[in-house]
Amino acid sequence: MLVIGGGIHGLSTAFHLARRGVAVTVLEADYCGRHASGVNAGGVRTLGRHIEEIPLALSSRALWHELKHTVGDDGGFVPSGQLKLAENPAELEQCRQRVQQLQTLGFEHEVLIDQQAVFEIIPTVARHVVGGIWVKDDGYAVPYKTVTAFRLAAEKLGVRVHESAPAQRIEQSGSLWKVTTPGGVFSAEHLVVTAGAWARELAAQVGEAVPAHPEGLMLMVTHRVAPFCAPVLGATGRSLSFKQFANGTVVIGGKLIGSLDFPARHGEVDMTRLGTSARTVTDLFPHLKHLGVNRVWAGVEAFTADDLPVIGPSRKASNLSYSFGFCGSGFQMGPGTGKRLAQQILGEHSEISLDAFAVDRFDAASPAPTPVFQPATTIPHH
Ligand SMILES: Cc1cc2nc3c(=O)[nH]c(=O)nc-3n(C[C@H](O)[C@H](O)[C@H](O)COP(=O)(O)OP(=O)(O)OC[C@H]3O[C@@H](n4cnc5c(N)ncnc54)[C@H](O)[C@@H]3O)c2cc1C
Repeated sequence: MLVIGGGIHGLSTAFHLARRGVAVTVLEADYCGRHASGVNAGGVRTLGRHIEEIPLALSSRALWHELKHTVGDDGGFVPSGQLKLAENPAELEQCRQRVQQLQTLGFEHEVLIDQQAVFEIIPTVARHVVGGIWVKDDGYAVPYKTVTAFRLAAEKLGVRVHESAPAQRIEQSGSLWKVTTPGGVFSAEHLVVTAGAWARELAAQVGEAVPAHPEGLMLMVTHRVAPFCAPVLGATGRSLSFKQFANGTVVIGGKLIGSLDFPARHGEVDMTRLGTSARTVTDLFPHLKHLGVNRVWAGVEAFTADDLPVIGPSRKASNLSYSFGFCGSGFQMGPGTGKRLAQQILGEHSEISLDAFAVDRFDAASPAPTPVFQPATTIPHH
């Protein structure tokens, strides 16, 4: 089995395949965790997921809680809970409707809480907050530590990882897939494409057009400050996600779009837009007003036209599987999606359907334009 892409999805899939006795080789263009999987905000969030993603996200979350046992390292996972704040009655009503909708569908993980409960969870939050949605088993982890944990666990099971090995051409010849890299040609019966923002280009080589495009997503990290917030926080009416790590630093993001030099495989930050995001934080925590920002960066992530990932077999070629296009929320999905994809490839049964993520779902819809460089904007939390 050949896997193209050494992010969390490629390494998790390789690990779960190797656990079932499959011989796997991973080809990584740069180094493992170099892109989205190693530089993201570390949010392990089931809160606010698309309905179609919820069963897979919940199964992935269960794996996060067992990570130390499964891969030998907890990836820095902290089950801190995640809280989405409502800052006015209209937002609280939105939260109420969301929780009600989930309950109708049988999902109980998102819980509506009132102002008093919010103040108990975060005593330092601004007093205008009126309530929110609380998910106690969500949390956060350390991205690069997690990617490395999957890589080492996979290698222990015999997975071979080749870095600086970009797949330039993929082609099926007889019963074998041949993948050309500058260092030579690799072949295997089954090919898995987990190449993040670059997967669309590989899919195009087998005639599969996927409406996906890359974006540069930004994050900033502050100086250290005394502990003031244990859970991961999001907002209902504005784009925000932030968390305080044990060392006191605060990581601030929330799908903030920067700019992108895609050919150079490089994201760029936009300081004006980061400033807006920083002000959201100080609105909620006025005591942080003079806290300095220590570091900013942007990572490259793949977004699809319907904001859902592509997971499952190609419809154009046999023995080819995809897992990409996680739209800014794929770190949390890594453990569970890798397991589910491995099961699907090996024909094992699972209760979790991947139908909503089939690559041919875009065929019916009239193909949306897929700009490589979108106008600068912020993607709202769903
Ligand atoms: C700033 C930022 C913050 C985020 N915050 C969160 C968060 O808090 N929570 C969350 O759940 N998600 C978050 N995400 C999203 C999450 O990081 C991604 O969805 C996830 O990491 C995608 O993993 P991946 O393995 O599909 O892609 P990647 O990590 O991009 O890995 C793909 C790999 O494939 C390699 N590759 C590409 N082309 C080739 C080729 N031709 N040959 C060989 N290798 C190739 C690349 O070099 C890359 O290493 C965030 C993303 C960013 C950028």
